Amino acid sequence: MFACTPPRGDRLVAWLLACWLAAACGGAGAADDDAPAKNYSTGTHVVLLGTGTPNAEPDRAGAALAVVVNGNAYLVDAGPGIVRRASGARELGVDALAPSRLEIVFLTHLHTDHTLGLPDLIFTPWVLERSAPLTVYGPPGTEAMVGHLMAAYEEDVRERLEGLEPANPTGHRAEVHEIEPGVVFENEDVRVTAFPVRHGSWEVALGYRFESADRTVVISGDAAPSETIVEFCSGCDVLVHEVYSQAGFERREPIWQAYHSRFHTSSLELAELMTRAQPRLLVLTHQLLWGSSPEELVAEIWSAWPGDVRYGRDLDVY
Ligand SMILES: [Zn+2]
Ligand SMILES: [Zn+2]
Repeated sequence: MFACTPPRGDRLVAWLLACWLAAACGGAGAADDDAPAKNYSTGTHVVLLGTGTPNAEPDRAGAALAVVVNGNAYLVDAGPGIVRRASGARELGVDALAPSRLEIVFLTHLHTDHTLGLPDLIFTPWVLERSAPLTVYGPPGTEAMVGHLMAAYEEDVRERLEGLEPANPTGHRAEVHEIEPGVVFENEDVRVTAFPVRHGSWEVALGYRFESADRTVVISGDAAPSETIVEFCSGCDVLVHEVYSQAGFERREPIWQAYHSRFHTSSLELAELMTRAQPRLLVLTHQLLWGSSPEELVAEIWSAWPGDVRYGRDLDVY
């Protein structure tokens, strides 16, 4: 761990920068052993469940997070590992992420790294005694995807329902809402608005804005620089945005550069967006480093936007 003890003289500036980077890159929230126990049953909290990409990195589950409002969880995306990560968050004190309480998910788009955990999210909580069906909001194609998953696992469902296992008859189901941009969900605690983002050749890719009594949280999903981020964040409390390292990008082959520049957002592009979106807190996820370090990625953003930036890691809570 970096020790933040101030030196004297001309090393002070370098020390300050290193301290900021250590704070920005060192993780946060529930994973901090020294932090006092938090109360996640009231107010709004953002729990990163998977900050990963298609790369199979052992410390980063597939793309997923939870916005927890007044003790209820609203999931965004369902990358591989989602239910086990949710269980990890439960062990850290976020009761809303107990497997049997995972009841609603909003999909940003249908790329595999955001949806390979969907059968896990439909079926595992049911086996662990969730009786409510999973409610799934997502872009066109979601209904077909869920239908195929139900067909794929029908032998398992039949065996659990008709065999010796005590299984409830409803929790394996999924209710799908294919949505368009606009307000897609509202209850007494939270209003959820879907908005379009640019993600290469995907016809529909969505970001989400969650508004509760105490916070506004915006999730980019996978996105190339999108003006809608500026519009829907507009001074929001927390913006969770994907990013890749500009220096890492410059080391990539041209054929991959052509792909990434259309589908994703570089650190410098993100910094430019942030000068106009002005979130109170920017949390980085889905980071593509390609040889850069987390500290270098954060420094790239700070070179053009000196705001509050955190390098998100699985199970961080903001
Ligand atoms: Zn992705
Ligand atoms: Zn994607």
